[in-house]
Amino acid sequence: MKTLISEAALANPDIALSNDIIRDCVHCGICLSHCPTYQVRHDENDSPRGRIMLMRNMYEHEGAPDARTVEHLDRCLTCLACEAICPSGVEYSKLIAHGREHVEATYRRPVLQRLTRRALTILIPHPELFRLGLLAGKLAQPFKWLFRGTLRAMLDMTPKGRLPRSSPVDRPQVFPAQGMRRARVSILTGCVQTVLDPKINEATIRLLQRHGVEVVVAKGAGCCGAPAEHKGLTQHALPFAKANIDAWLSEADAPGGLDAIIVNTSGCGTSLKAYGHALRLDAEWKDKAARVSALAKDITEFMAGLGLRKPENHRNLRVVYHSACSMQHGQRIVHQPLDLLRAAGFEVLDVPDGFMCCGSAGDYNLLQPAISGELKARKVANIRSVGADVAASGNVACMTQLASSIGIPFVHTVELLDWATGGPEPEELRSIKVRPASRMSRRADA
Ligand code: SF4
Ligand code: SF4
Repeated sequence: MKTLISEAALANPDIALSNDIIRDCVHCGICLSHCPTYQVRHDENDSPRGRIMLMRNMYEHEGAPDARTVEHLDRCLTCLACEAICPSGVEYSKLIAHGREHVEATYRRPVLQRLTRRALTILIPHPELFRLGLLAGKLAQPFKWLFRGTLRAMLDMTPKGRLPRSSPVDRPQVFPAQGMRRARVSILTGCVQTVLDPKINEATIRLLQRHGVEVVVAKGAGCCGAPAEHKGLTQHALPFAKANIDAWLSEADAPGGLDAIIVNTSGCGTSLKAYGHALRLDAEWKDKAARVSALAKDITEFMAGLGLRKPENHRNLRVVYHSACSMQHGQRIVHQPLDLLRAAGFEVLDVPDGFMCCGSAGDYNLLQPAISGELKARKVANIRSVGADVAASGNVACMTQLASSIGIPFVHTVELLDWATGGPEPEELRSIKVRPASRMSRRADA
């Protein structure tokens, strides 16, 4: 794609990189059929190609973008289905990341939008504030008919039952390997997940210990920074990244070192793997950030390399695996979770149109509830259509988006792997009746 961005604007290295990426686009339109927002809205401006044009115009005309451009960029899920399918290798993730940063630096949003976005950026990364926000949401349930838009979406997403207690495993400590130590890792315990589903970190740590891995919860590590980074608020995201880098590298440089930094929320994994790019222009931090990005591994990526021990329990369940966009497109991790679930003895089913986003996309479901709701309805219908006993995924945001609507239990992949190799049965599965052994599970037993 031809660009006419001024030399003065190109002096900014981020705009120069965006210019190179925009020029890689040959306008073929192959990405349109894979773009969820284009599929919902049928508007070229809500497609990858359309958004690339809008960003080109934004940089060519300098100054603040118009409200229409911002609206179409805001509607992007950052699902990266376009980047995964693009035959010209357009690095859309870097383009939209800087496009959003540019919008936040130059465009003044209406006051309500500004307040909502800022509130989410403050609440989500801090588990204690997020828990308070959820409790306030519970108190406001009887009045939710008074609200519309983002506030209504927040109330609709508030969990119905009691919130689980925070888990002791999320505090800084070391979990020793069982048997001979094969590896030493640190784990990103995260933010929202520790409040919504603390069982996931517990299952991850048990699974790793059982496979001979020592697990360190590093002091000073916390949210990955993605809630701010997704909104282009880089100045709020980088302090989280730097705190994590310091925490993990002090463990990596300690006796024993670190073989990996384990992530069990694929949205956060994508963010950690991009630290090196985000800090590439910072002389003090770029090498440290690149080290952390190289160490970051999704739990299924790491376990696939380690090998799963012989399964003990699986009850012949049919598992439909929902691959989060950040897993399949962001990190290009496709076969490892499926291979592990099969090795654990489960019959694994695919979701039709599995490349399409479920509409969760971080806090997109709160900021863009209409498009998110449409994508959720499509994903729910596709999951229900395969007739599985249980759904599994590697991203708590997708689980929160879909769990109450799919009509079957929804657990994290790691909870099934932990159970199959000797851990406790996830409580969500206890109501499922035992089915006779299938061909696939008999093969796994052999
Ligand atoms: S598939 Fe790639 S090259 Fe083709 S229009 Fe989309 S972004 Fe551009
Ligand atoms: S990231 Fe997803 S929503 Fe955004 S343009 Fe690409 S395919 Fe469309």
